[in-house]
Amino acid sequence: MSHTDAPLLAVTGLRKSFGDNLVLDGVDFAVGRGEVVCLIGPSGSGKTTVLRCLNGLEAPDAGVVTFSDGQTQDFAALAKGKEARQQRAALRDRSAMVFQHHNLFPHLTVLENVIEGPVHARGVARDAAVADAERLLARVGLAEKRDAYPHELSGGQQQRVGIVRALALAPDVLLFDEPTSALDPELVGEVLLVLKELADEGWTMVIVTHELGFARQVADEVVFFDGGVIVERGHPRDLFTAPTNERTRRFLDRIL
Ligand code: ADP
Repeated sequence: MSHTDAPLLAVTGLRKSFGDNLVLDGVDFAVGRGEVVCLIGPSGSGKTTVLRCLNGLEAPDAGVVTFSDGQTQDFAALAKGKEARQQRAALRDRSAMVFQHHNLFPHLTVLENVIEGPVHARGVARDAAVADAERLLARVGLAEKRDAYPHELSGGQQQRVGIVRALALAPDVLLFDEPTSALDPELVGEVLLVLKELADEGWTMVIVTHELGFARQVADEVVFFDGGVIVERGHPRDLFTAPTNERTRRFLDRIL
């Protein structure tokens, strides 16, 4: 996997509270181009909130996000108001998020779901968006489902359309929030296979997951969260087999 020297995306000092609840207490991490970073940790530790901040869905209280092309977003400097909204919109243009539940529009066909973002949010010409959508659907084995409605698909197929919808935005980074946790167990494999193929193709991905076997296979770095801070990080080979922190060890003992 080829990485440039500067990380594609670096986050420093990310802080976020909901009321009195301090959810992220100074989170720092970086993602190299083509790298896969898996965020693991107990429920409520702040992993989803990190993704939502990166995707501009939440307004952090503080933190700086820097991209390799030099674009920088300092949330403390512009925490409120219109400029903060513009900042978040700029972040959203860089990334695409795949949610736990696919969030497909039920009244739109598969193809219409996929082209909706490129055409309406990114201003791509409809013909070009359709051609791209057909190519991407074929890549995940769903070419023949282009005119189906979401309810006509299995959960795994719906989630694969959700992934295609994110790919169609041609983002710098793909963000996955527990992409298989809402699926029946027998459907998990087909979705993880698509993620693995995307990793092999060199997509830059940040994945919140409880699938530790999968994280071990695909992650360049695993980041363990607990209580709104990063407790430990490392290559899966090291972190899963020889965690250095007691909290990591206890978490892995419970899950593995
Ligand atoms: P994880 O993804 O690790 O399970 P989350 O980032 O979803 O953790 O949540 C971290 C904490 O933030 C939890 O205590 C959760 O209840 C709280 N939280 C998340 N989103 C909101 C919100 N929109 N409003 C209030 N509290 C929230």
